[in-house]
Amino acid sequence: MHKRRVNELQLQYVIKPAGPILIKSGGETALNPTLPEMTFVRTRHPQTGDTTIYLPGSSLKGVIRSHSERIIRTVLGDGPETCCDLLGGRGSQNCQERIKSRRLKEAPEQYRELCLACRIFGHMDHASHFLTADAFPPAPIDNLPVRQNVAIDRLSGGVAAGPFDMEVALEGEFHSQLTLYNFELWQVGLLILALRDIGEGRVRLGFAKSRGLGEVHLYLTQATVSYPGQFASSAFTFDKTFYGAGSLVKMKNGAADTAFVRAYDYVGQTDQIGWEVNGAYDPDEVWGRPSLRFGVAPDQLTPATLASNHNTIMGALAVSVKAWAQFVREYKG
Ligand SMILES: [Zn+2]
Repeated sequence: MHKRRVNELQLQYVIKPAGPILIKSGGETALNPTLPEMTFVRTRHPQTGDTTIYLPGSSLKGVIRSHSERIIRTVLGDGPETCCDLLGGRGSQNCQERIKSRRLKEAPEQYRELCLACRIFGHMDHASHFLTADAFPPAPIDNLPVRQNVAIDRLSGGVAAGPFDMEVALEGEFHSQLTLYNFELWQVGLLILALRDIGEGRVRLGFAKSRGLGEVHLYLTQATVSYPGQFASSAFTFDKTFYGAGSLVKMKNGAADTAFVRAYDYVGQTDQIGWEVNGAYDPDEVWGRPSLRFGVAPDQLTPATLASNHNTIMGALAVSVKAWAQFVREYKG
């Protein structure tokens, strides 16, 4: 299934610190006494090549995954088949262990066995459909303020370690994008719920979250839904309907491929929902990649239009939350 893409959602977004944040670097600073004990992770800026702080895609994926898992557990309860403990070892019944112990070899039966989080975000043996790029400031940032911090002993309430110095980012913005492909609509709904909470500053990022660090806001700037290998002349109306994978793989020699849909436990032909969005539709009949785009490129946004543009995109994608609600009802039933 993952050898070809049937649909793809790309979201561009901006993250702004709402207070001090720190994504810790790997720790070569112990060797250099002139640096603070805890430094922000750095790399080369993709445009200028200069040293800059950034938010690694793996950290962003971790935050989005763990908050999505929180939503799954809240709605559907705890259980390894609903939402597994990815980091648990042997006997913990995470998806990797379960698939191994049941000796499932074929891709469809493996997919069907996955918990809801692993169906989107993947695990060690099952590639993710969800990709997050690193987030960079528009221009390199190398100088950061340094704050003092102490570690508190949980038992005595006294100072256990420190004070130590740590670098924090207090302002600026980080631009990035994420991609979800071969998605079912319920997966987009879940992702949108998670992004809404991150957008509203309810989820923290990075180091010392329990001590008040890591508050951020997230703004979607542009969304593109595309359908590789599809042609507008077919039975689909890509400008008026949002299609999940289940409804796109249904055609085989002009007939419904229900066996394939059942094999993967896809929602199936009903995995589509009508929408009226104010987007730019490109039928792309030459290359067969119809797409619908809405929102504004980040460099054309002002602080005043950032929030309203975000709300417009969220409003358009919110139809997928209905699919998530429907999926939850059927999963429980
Ligand atoms: Zn899992």
